[in-house]
Amino acid sequence: MFDLASRDIKYLQGVGPQRAAMLNKELEIFSLHDLLYYFPYKYVDRSRIYAISEIEGTMPYVQLKGEIRTFEVVGEGRQRRLIAHFTDGTGFVDLVWFQGVKYALEKYKVRQEYIVFGKPTPYNGRFNIAHPDIDPAAELKLSSMGMQPYYNTTEKMKRSGLNSHALEKLTATLVKQLTEPLPETLTPAILHDHHLMPLTAALANIHFPVNAETLRKAQYRLKFEELFYIQLNILRYAKDRQRKYQGYRFERIGEVFNTFYTRNLPFELTNAQKRVLKEIRKDLGSGRQMNRLLQGDVGSGKTLVALMTMLIALDNRYQACMMAPTEILANQHYETIRELLCGMDVRVELLTGSIRGKRREEILNGLLTGDVNILIGTHAVIEDTVNFASLGLVVIDEQHRFGVAQRARLWTKNLQPPHVLVMTATPIPRTLAMTLYGDLDVSVIDELPPGRKPIATIHQFDSRRGSLYDSVRKQIAEGRQVYIVYPLIKESEKIDLKNLEEGYHHICEVFPECTVCKVHGKMKPAEKDEQMQRFVSGEAQIMVATTVIEVGVNVPNASVMIIENAERFGLSQLHQLRGRVGRGAEQSYCILVTGYKLADDTRKRLEIMVRTNDGFEIAEADLKLRGPGDLEGTQQSGIAFDLKIADIARDGQLLQYVRQIAQEVVDAEAVAPRPENELLWRQLARLRKTNVNWAAIS
Ligand code: ADP
Ligand code: MG
Repeated sequence: MFDLASRDIKYLQGVGPQRAAMLNKELEIFSLHDLLYYFPYKYVDRSRIYAISEIEGTMPYVQLKGEIRTFEVVGEGRQRRLIAHFTDGTGFVDLVWFQGVKYALEKYKVRQEYIVFGKPTPYNGRFNIAHPDIDPAAELKLSSMGMQPYYNTTEKMKRSGLNSHALEKLTATLVKQLTEPLPETLTPAILHDHHLMPLTAALANIHFPVNAETLRKAQYRLKFEELFYIQLNILRYAKDRQRKYQGYRFERIGEVFNTFYTRNLPFELTNAQKRVLKEIRKDLGSGRQMNRLLQGDVGSGKTLVALMTMLIALDNRYQACMMAPTEILANQHYETIRELLCGMDVRVELLTGSIRGKRREEILNGLLTGDVNILIGTHAVIEDTVNFASLGLVVIDEQHRFGVAQRARLWTKNLQPPHVLVMTATPIPRTLAMTLYGDLDVSVIDELPPGRKPIATIHQFDSRRGSLYDSVRKQIAEGRQVYIVYPLIKESEKIDLKNLEEGYHHICEVFPECTVCKVHGKMKPAEKDEQMQRFVSGEAQIMVATTVIEVGVNVPNASVMIIENAERFGLSQLHQLRGRVGRGAEQSYCILVTGYKLADDTRKRLEIMVRTNDGFEIAEADLKLRGPGDLEGTQQSGIAFDLKIADIARDGQLLQYVRQIAQEVVDAEAVAPRPENELLWRQLARLRKTNVNWAAIS
């Protein structure tokens, strides 16, 4: 038995130093193991011949059997192409070459039987196949071809002949050498209980499936394994942490909480808020450290739940701290919470980067003596100079700006790590949350406070600006306020800022009767705050802004959100922006403005936005459209998303299933070491070593 990972790809028959260098550089294939785990991205069934009369516009690839009747060269210059009129007796297709015309003319003959393979495209009332694969029918044995694998390669590789077909040949050579089974990576019990194909068979079949059924089984086995080890890693990590750290026990619900609940709380809690508070109280009383993710759409009332959780900490003689991603948000939380706690004997302080000198000293002192009960702030609160008398709870707002590493820093703020409540308004599909925040428990507020009218979302082409401005004017006349948002993306920052400035002047001209303010991320904080304040106070009716207003800002009187160049925003971001309106009692509107020409994906995004206000539905759609790697938060999450075969968006059910199995393995191990699971821990250790990202969270 040989260890594939230690065998250099260079020595595989058909590779050699030059191709090896190319494989190293382009695909990061260094060993035989790497090649074996470089899976096809698709398969084409080459066992079947289609009749030309069966071809439809949506078919990916077809295989035809027939003959060429005539050749024809048409067009001039770059348009010049060779057309072969091909028929099987049921109809005609055109085979087309834009390059290699001379070569094709020499190689292929009329009235000879060929197997033609390629992608049919409708053109001028019939189908054509550009640059088809053509083989003489006599030379191909169809039944032996089965499902043909296709591998991704790069332009560079293709230019030197290392295309999909070449990779297929190399892989075939390697698979033939696997005469002995490879060491199994799952236990016999798991293989048996879940009807999984053994590893070696799965690897052989993933490249060269005998038929569609074995392919499905091979895929299932390999996806299972991939997701299983991701979950095993996370759950093992969570278990170790649980064992290492005790949690503070908050047993009491006392005066602070009760006073607030009976005297200060301005409204009835929603059922969802009540349920989540119950889940949190259970954690806090359990003696284990709480690590809970609180998800809820914008405006669902997370802040209130966070506050009430902090009051429980206070009732148990601990301090609480709340961390927001921006200064504006920290400010807003500070104001809101002070107002909510009005008349109560609770000291709340704000700590941000701009609070310095004597004021800062006072706050730091108050934290040390325990006089300050609740600290609200930005990243500033996790600096080493900030120390507490007895920090018991940390609330983190808008998780996606904080990585796992930053969360971990909080644990050093007291002898035992404080309880952690993470809030996010970016709804994360459950499957993704389990992977991204797999070490967190999840609570969901899936209900908005009563009396909210759903926001009406409208897609409008920018040529119809005139009528759009008319309706805006009407809203303003009724006393409402309006946001107008421009995109701001780092790479084109200069152009974007210019757009924003131009937009601002344009709006000032169109609405001379209004006061317009302007906010973008390049402003000094003081200037930004001043502009914000003009809008919050109602002095300005229109705010022109970049996405800095994306998170958390709360102006209930603003009822219109216009998003310019909406095609340049992702779904989650559009949804976040839209959440800035619809916070008051009035009917609110979100207008997505775009040009006429739109890509298919963009059109889909806009349609989803118009159709639904449901953040979870939008998040699911976003995940499907973009894939998990591009979603906000995944980059900082410290978890590898370059999965080899599983797809978080599509394999959600399997993910939940394997999580259960991984949980059982971890739980059993906690009771007593299981010799039969030894091989799982060995494999996990191996993966942690080769996967840098995994090591970072463990
Ligand atoms: P989130 O942080 O989830 O976006 P907020 O906590 O800012 O939402 O709440 C949005 C608004 O709804 C706030 O003005 C808040 O006071 C109000 N609110 C919260 N809970 C309720 C409730 N149960 N009933 C009525 N209004 C509520
Ligand atoms: Mg909020």
